This record gives sequence, C-alpha cells and structure tokens, in this order.
Amino acid sequence: MIVAANFKTNKTRKETVEYLKELKTIDFENVKVAVFPPQTALTEDDLIGAQNAYPTVNGAYTGEIGLEQLNEFNIKRILIGHSERRHILGETQEFIAEKFNFFKENGFEIFYCIGEPLEIRKKGIDAVIEYLKNQFRGIDLEYEKLIVAYEPVWAIGTGVSASIDEIRATHAEIRKFTSKPILYGGSVKLNNIEDIIKIKNVDGVLVGSASLDVNVFKQMIKKA
Ligand code: PEP
Repeated sequence: MIVAANFKTNKTRKETVEYLKELKTIDFENVKVAVFPPQTALTEDDLIGAQNAYPTVNGAYTGEIGLEQLNEFNIKRILIGHSERRHILGETQEFIAEKFNFFKENGFEIFYCIGEPLEIRKKGIDAVIEYLKNQFRGIDLEYEKLIVAYEPVWAIGTGVSASIDEIRATHAEIRKFTSKPILYGGSVKLNNIEDIIKIKNVDGVLVGSASLDVNVFKQMIKKA
C-alpha cells in the first residue's frame, strides 16, 4: 500500500519539518509513504518528493527548479501530470511527456497523475478511458519506478470522492495499460480511505486536503 500527501501551496519549511518529525512517531513499515511539500520546503528526507520541476539540469527557466536543485537534497521522487498543473498552469501532454522522460532517464520514482473532467465522466466509462489514453501519450507505462495516480478532476478538493463502483471500474480499465501500482486520489478522507483501499486494483491513495493535518494523515496511514 502506498499513501502519499500532496501539500500543494500549503505549509512553510518550518511547518514541514515539524510535520515530518510528528509523522515519523508512527511505525509505517508496511506502507510506503511519500510527502510532496512546496518547493521551499524540500529537504533531504526519504519521504520527500518534488511537486514539480523543469526537465533540465539547470539553465534559463525563470521561476523553475531543475535536477541540480533536486540533487542538492537527494530528491529522487517527483509528481508529474497533476490536474492543477494541466488545467491551471496549462501544461500540455507533450510537455508532460518530456518531463516524464527526463526524470525517467534520471532514475526518479514518478507519481504520474491522470484524470478526467466532469463533462467527460458524464459521457460514461468509454469516454473516460479514451480521455485517459490521451494522458498516456508519450509515457512508458511499464517504467519500473512508475506509480500511476488516477485522480478525477471533479473529485479533487471538492469533498466529493468518486464512488466505489466508479473507482473499481476505472482502475480495472487502467490496469489493462500498466502492471505498476495505481493510486486513487480525489477527496480521500479519514472516513472513506478504508473502503477505497479495499477496492481491487487500488494500490494506495494520493491525499491533498486531508493530508495537511498530520494527525489525520497518521491515522490514514494506520488504516492503510
Ligand atoms: C490532489 O490534489 O492530489 C488531491 C487528491 O486533493 P484532495 O485530496 O484535496 O482532493
């Protein structure tokens, strides 16, 4: 089971250090835990991954960080393709695939996010799979350090998770494309995590809002 926290644009460096210290008061030997803090809170810690980076060692990409900056903290884990980067920051599939391939070549563990918007979900599972297939363009779905995160856009940060049946059916379809772990993300909370992780082809969860409270996140890990 994999349980990952995405802080997005929340928490300072000091808060993140305190969070990690508190998180490690529990034993999670049987669960793989990952924490994605904002860039200013990146630290040398096994749990830490980067929410984003530019596919370059270094160079002229104002406002971005590259491999050189991640190497400084020994970071070998990255989140790519999150819906907020696709839809708010306007990242195209071509650019996302370029990032994927750069960080693959550099041996990173890649949490690769996919997910459909509500208008596609309303058209049914076939339309959803067609949409997701596009988000697989240029991605090596058998990369040994790949972890896929299925996160329906309409479920992210809305408090409304996908239903058990929707998750089961969608993960079963995604499984046809990859043998690697598939996480579910989108309003996973303390009160629904147990039901979600029991679903076939769900290998863990990616948690946004609910991960911000370390005591809640610790309980979620215990449930996993
Ligand atoms: C996310 O952004 O990856 C996410 C799953 O957010 P939330 O848990 O808040 O829906």
